[in-house]
Amino acid sequence: MEAARRTLDGLVGRSPVAKAGPAHVATLKTFDPPLAALEGRRLAGARRRGKHLLFPTEDGGLVLHVHLMSAGRIRFLEPGAKGPKTPAFRLVLEDGGELVLTEAGAKKRARVGVYRPEELEAELAHLGPEADEIDAERLGEILRRESRRLHPFLRDQRALAGIGRAWSNEILNRARLSPYSLTTELDGDEVERLAETIRETLAKGLELRLRGASDAKAHRVHDRLGRPCPNCGTPIARVDFEEHTIYYCPECQTAGRVLKDRRLSRLLR
Ligand SMILES: [Zn+2]
Repeated sequence: MEAARRTLDGLVGRSPVAKAGPAHVATLKTFDPPLAALEGRRLAGARRRGKHLLFPTEDGGLVLHVHLMSAGRIRFLEPGAKGPKTPAFRLVLEDGGELVLTEAGAKKRARVGVYRPEELEAELAHLGPEADEIDAERLGEILRRESRRLHPFLRDQRALAGIGRAWSNEILNRARLSPYSLTTELDGDEVERLAETIRETLAKGLELRLRGASDAKAHRVHDRLGRPCPNCGTPIARVDFEEHTIYYCPECQTAGRVLKDRRLSRLLR
């Protein structure tokens, strides 16, 4: 998301908004102020809070909010560039440049909205601190709040903002921690290592994305079943859940244990 923000930051404010919309009915989450309220205003650039992209207007009156969820993609098209016929959302600048949001698959989950700044602040107030800036002390406090498994903890935007499913897999592998370890059971060294790994992994991922690498290229563990673990060469294993899949190394992360979907085994018991 940070890579997208950096790319868009210098482009979206090039000229005022000529036309905001249309947006897919399932994508647009606000109606007051209307999308058209952006027209005639200039965007100040692209900001980010966790996985949320924010485009405040230069006059400070409004903020365009975009959340890509898991399958959304946002791009800036130069005037005349070939774009998608029916994007989930389109915003056209006066110079002809376009901000275009598309979403793969049938499920429309990506979100677009126009907010007054104070409304957006309230909307995002639940987010935890930014993951890419977390230090061991702060992470330790958050880990101790509640006992839960590490993988869902890392994905929880209320705990830490900015980490999704794929990067949770990358971080835990690099830190050699089990996705099923409990947050309250990490010792001081492990907390230190996890904080450092979160920052390093996200920084490395950002660097790769800025150099133009695709997700598939930026990931070393996620979606790489059977490929060698980058730490120890053991084939990567996975455990499936309804909404996500955990990829992990059964050698250096779980000490030889194969993880099971606990919810399923509970149902079968
Ligand atoms: Zn390994």
